[in-house]
Amino acid sequence: MKIHEYQAKQLLKQYGVPVPEGQVAGTPEEARSVAATLARRVVIKGQVHSGGRGKAGAVKLAGDANEAEAIGKDLLGKTLFFAQANSDLKINNLLVEEAVNIDKEIYVAITQDRVRQRDVLIVSTQGGMDIEEVAHNNPADIARLYIDPLLGLPDYACRAVLFEAKFDKTLIGKMIPVLKALYAAYVGTDATLAEINPLVITKEGTIIAGDAKWDIDENALYRHPELSVLQDDTETDAIEVEAHRRGIQYVRLEGGDIGIIGNGAGLVMTTMDEVKRAGGSPADFLDIGGGAKAEAVTSSLEIVLSDPNVKGVLFNIFGGITRGDEVAKGIIEGVKSLDVKVPIVIRLAGTRAAEGAELLKTTNLVPAETMQEAAAKIVELAYKK
Ligand code: GDP
Ligand code: MN
Repeated sequence: MKIHEYQAKQLLKQYGVPVPEGQVAGTPEEARSVAATLARRVVIKGQVHSGGRGKAGAVKLAGDANEAEAIGKDLLGKTLFFAQANSDLKINNLLVEEAVNIDKEIYVAITQDRVRQRDVLIVSTQGGMDIEEVAHNNPADIARLYIDPLLGLPDYACRAVLFEAKFDKTLIGKMIPVLKALYAAYVGTDATLAEINPLVITKEGTIIAGDAKWDIDENALYRHPELSVLQDDTETDAIEVEAHRRGIQYVRLEGGDIGIIGNGAGLVMTTMDEVKRAGGSPADFLDIGGGAKAEAVTSSLEIVLSDPNVKGVLFNIFGGITRGDEVAKGIIEGVKSLDVKVPIVIRLAGTRAAEGAELLKTTNLVPAETMQEAAAKIVELAYKK
């Protein structure tokens, strides 16, 4: 779950990382009044779930409250293209905060390295908006520390990675408490990404977080009610939001038109491949989970059909312990309660699959024996003129 910069900065502050004074504003008038309380030069930043806002034109400096209001009028409600998210995003809120006098821009981040199965701390003295180019052209300017979960981030480990990244001796001492606080915040919020870019060294010689990018592990949200409320769904696909509210594992695929429902992530993905191979275009990934009770079928089918592009639905259910005839009954009952206008093909495998297929014969649901046959059938029926 991505959270906004202003939310991430509040977390950083709680864990002891210095952040600029500021507040979020939803109207130009609010932008003015926040700027007025700060009583100095302010930076105004569009709050969207994407980096690269500077390059997109969503970060502006204002000299006074009047200017802050004018920038607020310009940016609020505006939709800009963000290359990093590869999409148009609407700016609903602005972070208005005191501008800092930047001397140096440092890059620090902690994220997961799945290959090493460790969290990794990444640092560079060449932070700022061009960090991607640094990574590409001067990879030696970026140093990494794979964090031992039992040791955490002791001072000596921080020192070693900062030394490797060629930080000045004077800077190393200032950086260590920031790195340790960042790691504490990362662990404490079950984050999968905690990035500060730039971490600013000011002309006055202080250190302060100029930006913050934060991703929280959704599977850990159950133990963080205080973080769940930070969720902002306005940038997420509306059908996905509804599916997640119902506890359904659903991912929508832009441009697809064959609805896919199966049990088990591997089976669903294989089904998507088979549909593609048969000349169809999958509209979603939906894992209905164990068994297929009528209630789950209705709910899942409702989600899949709420995508207006869907021209047909393929169920691929592998009944291991679950009996095929029970699954068939669930699907028949589930479909009955919905007004379905598109063809539905069902492939059942496993215990009592034949009995299940027998039950389907009395309906206009189309049974199929193999996955390949099912994919071919749904593609044929859905695209039939
Ligand atoms: P991002 O482009 O989405 O990563 O947004 P940032 O918050 O990192 O802002 C982009 C750039 O704007 C930074 O790299 C800075 O160079 C500049 N910037 C951000 N805040 C300030 C500030 O308070 N003062 C000054 N002078 N520049 C800032
Ligand atoms: Mn940034």
